[in-house]
Amino acid sequence: MPTENRTTLTPDTPVRYLKGVGPKTAERFEKLGIVTLADLLCHYPRRYIDFSKPYSIAEAPADTECVVKAEVFAKPGGRILPGGRRMERITAGDDVSSLEITWFNNPYAAQKLQLGQEYYFQGIVTGGMLRRQMVNPQVRTAEQIKASPFEAVYPQTEGLTSNAIAKCVRQLLPHAELLPDPLPPEMLAKYRLLSKADAVRAIHCPATEEQAYAARRRLIYEELLVLQLGIGRMKNRGAAATGAPMRLADPSLFWASLPFSPTGAQRRAIADAVEDMVSGKPMNRLCQGDVGSGKTMVAAACIWFAVENGWQTALMAPTEILARQHYQGLAPLLARFSIRCALLTGSTRAKERREILAGLADGTIDLCIGTHALLTEDVQYQKLGLVVTDEQHRFGVNQRAALSQKAEDPHMLVLSATPIPRTLALVIYGDLDVSVIDELPPGRQKVDTFALGESYRPRVQAFIRKLAAAGQQIFIVCPLVGEADQIPDERKAVTAYAKQLQEQVFPDLRVAVLHGKMKPKEKEKVMAAFAAGESDILVSTTVVEVGVDVPNATCMVVENADRFGLSQLHQLRGRVGRGKAKSYCILLSDSQNEETRARLKVMTQTNDGFRISQEDLRLRGPGDFFGQRQHGLPAMKIADLSCDMRLLDEAQTAARQLMERDPELTDPAHRPLRRRIRQLFDTNADMLN
Ligand code: ADP
Ligand code: MG
Repeated sequence: MPTENRTTLTPDTPVRYLKGVGPKTAERFEKLGIVTLADLLCHYPRRYIDFSKPYSIAEAPADTECVVKAEVFAKPGGRILPGGRRMERITAGDDVSSLEITWFNNPYAAQKLQLGQEYYFQGIVTGGMLRRQMVNPQVRTAEQIKASPFEAVYPQTEGLTSNAIAKCVRQLLPHAELLPDPLPPEMLAKYRLLSKADAVRAIHCPATEEQAYAARRRLIYEELLVLQLGIGRMKNRGAAATGAPMRLADPSLFWASLPFSPTGAQRRAIADAVEDMVSGKPMNRLCQGDVGSGKTMVAAACIWFAVENGWQTALMAPTEILARQHYQGLAPLLARFSIRCALLTGSTRAKERREILAGLADGTIDLCIGTHALLTEDVQYQKLGLVVTDEQHRFGVNQRAALSQKAEDPHMLVLSATPIPRTLALVIYGDLDVSVIDELPPGRQKVDTFALGESYRPRVQAFIRKLAAAGQQIFIVCPLVGEADQIPDERKAVTAYAKQLQEQVFPDLRVAVLHGKMKPKEKEKVMAAFAAGESDILVSTTVVEVGVDVPNATCMVVENADRFGLSQLHQLRGRVGRGKAKSYCILLSDSQNEETRARLKVMTQTNDGFRISQEDLRLRGPGDFFGQRQHGLPAMKIADLSCDMRLLDEAQTAARQLMERDPELTDPAHRPLRRRIRQLFDTNADMLN
């Protein structure tokens, strides 16, 4: 029981008020993100040890953690080992076999056992049938098991074991009611959910497997509901919205202007989008297609269509290089239809910027391509009807909302190369329609991928030389690797590496450098020179990651490939294989870590971006997958966005119904929910306004 009886406990009471929690322990709790009693109650177990179905000694699986039920047969005294370690050894057994159990430096564990009594031992059984052994097991009595058959295992930290955490949690459980329940009673009844206090008690100390499951379900449900509602409030898109009204136009004119004919998948995606734009409702569509699948053309067709219908359009890209490349690709193409384009980025000069702003305000500019600069307040459109965002996952949810507010209810088209798993897409975009471009333009070849260790470096260098001799170009990407805790100096690291390559390895080739610290103009110059074939090797940090199109580049070498996420590697690989020649991706890594090797192996086995992103999501979790800051979503405590799909659907339906009935959540029954939403999103408070 908490020691400070005089203070009334609140959810915000610091954990140090708990019995047995001193300043040291409180500090360790803080490492786990636990400061208050509420934090502790919401520190959910990672898994349970199931004491309810113990093995007999003979049946216990070898070398695996398990629970064995056995009687204490013999209990000789302990002894001191050479070196001063204390050892106690007992013999336990059942009808068939016996088990030798040893504890080191823990005399108390053996002393409290009684001869002839049955216990549950949890640990790893080793040894053959004739001499089964266990070292330092956890011991429970039958009564203890009856009271709590499933024991919670918590995420722990140095100096704070799962057991110690469990002790603290257990003294708090009678106070679980401290936690406010954000879900209104009506909802609990309707969806058959446990109350918050019951769920918290059951998640820490379930009596049955079913109870643990019900508790999990309820807590995940709450988390997803709050998330959906928070995002729903952010989106702020009126239900009665009409979208920019448009009428059908004949796309064959547009097709005829292209140097190639669109793939079936491109045609379908465009048809989907056009159907949305004439529907009388705002389009909210994600166009998902692997790198190189030709999403830009889909965007161009939609832009053409919107402008034909008399609307202005905006195309937002995450980097200046990419915005520029879109501008250079699209402006001449669209000029054939007298569509006037402008490029607006952070480095647009003041005078030109003023002209562009004027053109957007009076409607003489039909398409504005740009970066985040499109979001600044002084950019006003006369009649914005369509907003396309490229490589969406680079933008936060809030930025997208900001752009859509530049007009009443513009149609939104999102292009994404990282195939976003359906669950995450639902969470991030809410009700969003998806078109998948599942077909690459003809003539594309699979990029051969190799994951190699350091010993292959000479061979890789020889290979690069061979490609360059054949007139092909090579990307070499290196991650930023800094000394511990130091922010690496990108410019220095990459420049030094390139210099070394140029002077010591490839004196006969032309090595260029590109990094994020360069001015946009410089970057563009280097990119343009590379695209024009004026350099053989481009050494860079991940600035080349997104979108860059150099068909003559046939080889992507990634240094320290283990430092990148799979989706990022897939993006990088997508920079090559865009021309006719056979292309290669070489992932260099000296990591011996098995998981890392397995991860890189996925890259050599598949070119399927969807599989890769799912694998990535599974291995890294959604937070890392997009980068917390990029997607702007709060971290989930218990829900797993990659697999709690059914609950997510349910929560989404409930959220929608709630938003319809009480959009501002002003009903007193909904206030706790509203408070919870604010709490969860308060690190991103500006998104909620
Ligand atoms: P991404 O989907 O990665 O954005 P892009 O739109 O940049 O792909 O297209 C990649 C390349 O394929 C570009 O050079 C583009 O001109 C070309 N391309 C696009 N559609 C087709 C097509 N239907 N047939 C042939 N080439 C195409
Ligand atoms: Mg693209």
